[in-house]
Amino acid sequence: MELDPQKLVVVTGAGGFIGGHLVAELKRRGHERVRAVDVKPLGRWYQEHEGVENVSADLREKDACYSASDGACYVFNLAADMGGMGFIETHKADCMVSVLINTNMLLAARDLGVEHFLFGSSACVYNAERQSDPDVTALKESDAYPALPEDGYGWEKLFSERMCRHFMEDYGISVYVPRFHNVYGPHGTYDGGREKAPAAICRKVIEAQLDESGVIEIWGDGLQTRSFTYIDDTISGVLRLMERGVTEPINLGSSQLVTINQLVDIVEGIAGIKLERTYRLDAPQGVRGRNSDNTLILEKLGWEPSTTLEDGLERTYGWIYEQMTSGVRDEAAAIFN
Ligand code: NAD
Repeated sequence: MELDPQKLVVVTGAGGFIGGHLVAELKRRGHERVRAVDVKPLGRWYQEHEGVENVSADLREKDACYSASDGACYVFNLAADMGGMGFIETHKADCMVSVLINTNMLLAARDLGVEHFLFGSSACVYNAERQSDPDVTALKESDAYPALPEDGYGWEKLFSERMCRHFMEDYGISVYVPRFHNVYGPHGTYDGGREKAPAAICRKVIEAQLDESGVIEIWGDGLQTRSFTYIDDTISGVLRLMERGVTEPINLGSSQLVTINQLVDIVEGIAGIKLERTYRLDAPQGVRGRNSDNTLILEKLGWEPSTTLEDGLERTYGWIYEQMTSGVRDEAAAIFN
């Protein structure tokens, strides 16, 4: 199925990282009717696109979800109160309140005849016991059960995944449920407490470069492993899932596994600098190791994320460097505080 460029597309969380890039891509592809919604006031969004209906609304409120979804054929529901490990380990209740967004957006979709509904899920739904070793076996979709997800944030995602499934079974809405694995890139959070490892490491390397401290603090012992997905691959994957009608939860992540130390090596290489490392062992670190098993996405789409970490980080580092040296600071965290 090709998405019809004349029909209304709604993107929630559009003032955030993934939503902002998705709206950009929809515009590039010629979509004429796009409604972008976020709780942040206009002017505080990472990207605001022209020719788009940009709406500031709190989607925890049912009425706001109905107004946002009115007339829509496609909904990409990417709004959530979230952040990196430093945020989700200390804001479990806030993360769970996003269930209001997902519940009310699904009810609106059912009542207003939305045909296609995508929910941005997460690798945090996976059973923690399968992620206790840095030498990981990549996670396949069935590893979400028996359920033991990341406390707070992961439970909300797993519950909302199931709600999507039952809305499809009971009400016939086509649902799409990518499980994002650590997405990074330009136009996202890099400061203020919600940032994730790639942006945080870029920021710290740039800070060390600018103040000539020669030191970088790393959370944990640096041996924990992850894979990181470049934003362009995430956007491409999200659209492919809807176009190809893949309705089961599916990994949308890179399978290039690195330790956090290797991530730092790459960023230092881009910056042309070598820093002394200090390790904060009491800092939030999440699971010990995690990677994406891409067997299912390859089978369904004949495609998987392919941007190398080196290439993606080069672009991300460049954008963060520009932001930090032009005096613009990341204020995303302030909105909820
Ligand atoms: P983000 O924080 O940059 O964007 C989320 C946006 O949702 C923010 O702009 C925020 O203001 C908005 N929002 C929060 N509460 C809202 C509300 N009540 N009403 C309206 N808007 C609200 O995060 P992101 O990285 O773009 O993530 C998008 C989605 O993907 C989220 O659901 C997130 O949980 C999921 N996800 C992201 C990653 C990742 O690595 N970035 C990984 C797994 C899952």
